[in-house]
Amino acid sequence: MTFRSNAYETALSRIAPTLTPPTEKVADLYGSNTFSDEVMRTLLSTEAYTKISNAIKSGSTIDREVAEEVATAMKSWAISKGASHYTHWFQPLTGTTAEKHDSFFDLNSEGKAVEKFKGSALVQQEPDASSFPSGGLRATFEARGYTGWDPSSPAFLMDNGAGGKTLCIPSVFISYTGEALDYKAPLLRSLVMLDKAATSVCQYFNREVDKVTPTLGIEQEYFLVDKALYYARPDLLMSGRTVFGHSPARGQQLDDHYFGSISPRVNAFMADFEFEALKLGIPVRTRHNEVAPGQFECAPTFEEVNLAIDHNALLMDLMQKVGERHSFQVLFHEKPFAGINGSGKHNNWSLSTNNGINLLAPTTKPKENLRFLTFLLTVVKAVHDHADLLRASIASASNEHRLGANEAPPSIVSVFLGGELTAMLEELVSKGEVTVEKGENFYYKLGISRIPNLQRDNTDRNRTSPFCFTGNKFEFRAVGSSQNSASAMIVLNTIVANQLMEFKREMDERLAAGEEKKSANVAILKRYYTESKRILFEGNGYSDEWVALAAERGLSNIRETYDALHAFIEEPTIEIFRKVGVLNARELHARYEIELENYVKKLQIESRVIGDLALNHVVSTVVKYQFKLAQTARALSDLDMTEEAEPIKEIIREISKHVVIIKRLVHEMTEARKNANVIEGFYEKAKAYGSDVKGYFDEIRYHVDKLELLIDDEDWPLAKYREILFLE
Ligand code: ADP
Ligand code: MG
Repeated sequence: MTFRSNAYETALSRIAPTLTPPTEKVADLYGSNTFSDEVMRTLLSTEAYTKISNAIKSGSTIDREVAEEVATAMKSWAISKGASHYTHWFQPLTGTTAEKHDSFFDLNSEGKAVEKFKGSALVQQEPDASSFPSGGLRATFEARGYTGWDPSSPAFLMDNGAGGKTLCIPSVFISYTGEALDYKAPLLRSLVMLDKAATSVCQYFNREVDKVTPTLGIEQEYFLVDKALYYARPDLLMSGRTVFGHSPARGQQLDDHYFGSISPRVNAFMADFEFEALKLGIPVRTRHNEVAPGQFECAPTFEEVNLAIDHNALLMDLMQKVGERHSFQVLFHEKPFAGINGSGKHNNWSLSTNNGINLLAPTTKPKENLRFLTFLLTVVKAVHDHADLLRASIASASNEHRLGANEAPPSIVSVFLGGELTAMLEELVSKGEVTVEKGENFYYKLGISRIPNLQRDNTDRNRTSPFCFTGNKFEFRAVGSSQNSASAMIVLNTIVANQLMEFKREMDERLAAGEEKKSANVAILKRYYTESKRILFEGNGYSDEWVALAAERGLSNIRETYDALHAFIEEPTIEIFRKVGVLNARELHARYEIELENYVKKLQIESRVIGDLALNHVVSTVVKYQFKLAQTARALSDLDMTEEAEPIKEIIREISKHVVIIKRLVHEMTEARKNANVIEGFYEKAKAYGSDVKGYFDEIRYHVDKLELLIDDEDWPLAKYREILFLE
């Protein structure tokens, strides 16, 4: 038996585990492993509780004594729940989460064992994290970088399986000189500024609004692969995607997987990680099959942006861990399999006021609708003016497969508003106001109706838009499934905050010049609409016509990651990031370099995997198979059946043809890699990898996939798509 058939047997023999829910009531479970507001209220003195609540709400600083009290409470809460260690939990620019566990256990001066957790350890730590990417911001000799507690995201207990539990404290990661080395620090800065800018614009409409909270609901797509088959695919293991593999006879053309019934084994996995997620206060709500076989989606209810992002990072981690128990490997890669759909992470984003108004939800009152249109068009204008920057925020080697590559939508940023809303905006421009006739349902007029979801899911064209308005929020769909949403959200928050600041500046100018409020407001909106109209697109975003039309409209279509990233360091970007106060020029440059480096590393690994699999797995197996064929041909000739031997010789020749080409291409690719490796400049190196090295990937794949069809199924060394994808 081969490794592959063994793996397949193992995978086939698995049975769905029966899962006993930890409790009948979800409410009992929810947040039970978090150091929640409720826990703090019971464990802290009124004074400390009030101080920390204020710090969470308004971002005020926490003094030493309060930190000391919180640390003590956290420690006893965590230990009472079985924790032995604590860690600052942070999100470095590697795209994953990081933790370094310290034990509560310590020795006192008399050598006695004590359990210790000081306020200072809660507030700040200095992990030996010098090998995280820093883009030169933190030369190793200089300092290690610090992690600092983010009180706005509750600490939680992470179950390490056999290793006990760890108290995780969500933190930022900054350099000795205060520069951001992670996603959270700039995200928090952008959120504060967006709140300020949005609140001040709200003041024109609702004086009572004193805080605006950006909200985010993240839909996470993923693939599930049986663990045994995962190990039978070194490419999946090493690079997260299959670099070879012929499409199965049946892919997703029947659309039978989408929203189909979930298999018991998958269901058990989902239920299991959902229980774990609920304990951590992650409000998971929906689960369903996705379009491709083996593909699924999970979506929590929306939360404040910072929390939603922490929860998504935590959820991804949790899914991997729980996957182990179910012998599943969770694939977050954007395109693990060629020929079928890839995975995204849809970011549903809106703005909500302290008195419960969703600023992106239309209403039936004309005055409120002017507010709605103001926020709507400010976002559209921001996206229009900084489309390249948004594109940069989601650029990566793996997401590239979903943007602009073969069988992927183009990497053009466009905005979908829907026909009815667009008609309304046209009305605004021509008449100067939007009228809602008496008795008419405004929602209906917007084409949203009372069942927005159904309406939306039926609108196929809508699903092709990278940035669409979905009735009461925007959905940024181009974010990759493996990415940290913070990258996209930092940019979105920043450009919208900037645009709102611009709006306010112009309003105040016009008001000071004696203009009437409503007409000033409408005049600005008219201009925003006219200036950003070219980015609005209602048709099929995946069509060739759109690519041509977008070019005509002068919209950019930046296909390559290394080019897309450039927007991070362009002058307008540096200027608005400075103005809004989110990242300085040095931090932006550092991010740019890190992203280019990540890109190079990913392609380097893929290229090595391709070379190794092609030569040491495929070619070596194929040659053995050729030998078998040659023996058969000889035997036939010996029997004087030379004519019958001819088709066999033909297969031998055909195999040889592919083998020769593969060997040559792998050799050339290796040379290209060697040349690229010695290039100094970040951009130049990334470009060499992205064009010269990557240029060989598809060609090698073509020949390997041909061989897959030529040689005996039993001899093929790699688990085939049909085995990996249809097994649930
Ligand atoms: P879909 O049809 O895409 O599944 P849903 O209405 O179920 O749409 O919502 C998808 C995601 O959008 C969910 O995570 C949901 O919580 C989130 N969402 C809904 N309203 C808002 C909002 N106001 N702000 C941010 N996210 C929201
Ligand atoms: Mg959706």
